[in-house]
Amino acid sequence: MACPAARNWGAKMPNGKTLSLIAGTTVCNARCDFCISKTTPFQGMGPKLDQINRERLEHACGLAKKLGIQTVLITSKGEPTIYPEHISTYLLHVQKHKFSSVELQTNAILFGTKAEQYDKLLAQWHADGLGLIAISIVHYEGEKNRSIYTKINPYMDLPAIIAKLHGFGYKVRLSCTLVRGYVDSIDEARRMIQFAIQNKVEQLTLRRMEAVDVSENEDVSSWTRSHMLAPETLAALRSHLDENGKLVGEFFYGARLYEYGESSQNVCLTTGLTDKILTDDVRQLIFFPSGRIITDWRYDSGKEGELVQISGIKTEG
Ligand code: SF4
Repeated sequence: MACPAARNWGAKMPNGKTLSLIAGTTVCNARCDFCISKTTPFQGMGPKLDQINRERLEHACGLAKKLGIQTVLITSKGEPTIYPEHISTYLLHVQKHKFSSVELQTNAILFGTKAEQYDKLLAQWHADGLGLIAISIVHYEGEKNRSIYTKINPYMDLPAIIAKLHGFGYKVRLSCTLVRGYVDSIDEARRMIQFAIQNKVEQLTLRRMEAVDVSENEDVSSWTRSHMLAPETLAALRSHLDENGKLVGEFFYGARLYEYGESSQNVCLTTGLTDKILTDDVRQLIFFPSGRIITDWRYDSGKEGELVQISGIKTEG
């Protein structure tokens, strides 16, 4: 979930709604024990690459505009950067719609391991309108990230990757999943924020880990449940941010946006999934290469071509 920057927005504060464009397949080069992608419906996706249905993509962009969506987030059910051709196609397509922010969610591993290929792509993507890269992490220490993301293989030099992305002109968001044994206390959160400040990271998201009620993968959901932060820890973290940060935005699905401490570091405290009880407003549209459009990762939209009702707006499937 995108959590927009807080600084200097004034009247232009984003509404937090996102058009998520799914790139690639279910294939990922990481091995996260909590991978929520494995627990939510696959929406017809598998390891085989689908061509992007451009007609439906155009429809999704038009629908996003009608819903007041300002942010496009290229993401995946696996790792999007494994399929750079999808990212390039999406970027070229959304250009004409002039969204306020176009972002990519990634584990960024390939930016380190295949630098020669990806440096060229990063330069091109920036020229094509990609403005922010959100890197999924669980900690400020490489060893901790390795234990979740790459296991037996080495993890990248995160500060060097952040510096490289800044060099290409990107803003960087660190999207840190809160996991017991990792960033799981106020002290750890403060160290994570300090890391963001030291590396001039424009945005830091602290994301509560979620387990779905009906899971496609019980092993992953069970690991997730046993490593979630306790409600009282989350409440203490929120109080700490309230007391030490200036609240500059609050979104209808529960995310809270702060300028933290003397350096006014942008910090967003958020959830991974939308609580349907909290809102019946649309937090996001999710577009799949096949042309399928949904509003929540947890619910299967059914067969292709189904009529989907979104906030009173009908979209022909
Ligand atoms: S990087 Fe994302 S998609 Fe890949 S295993 Fe981790 S959580 Fe799943």
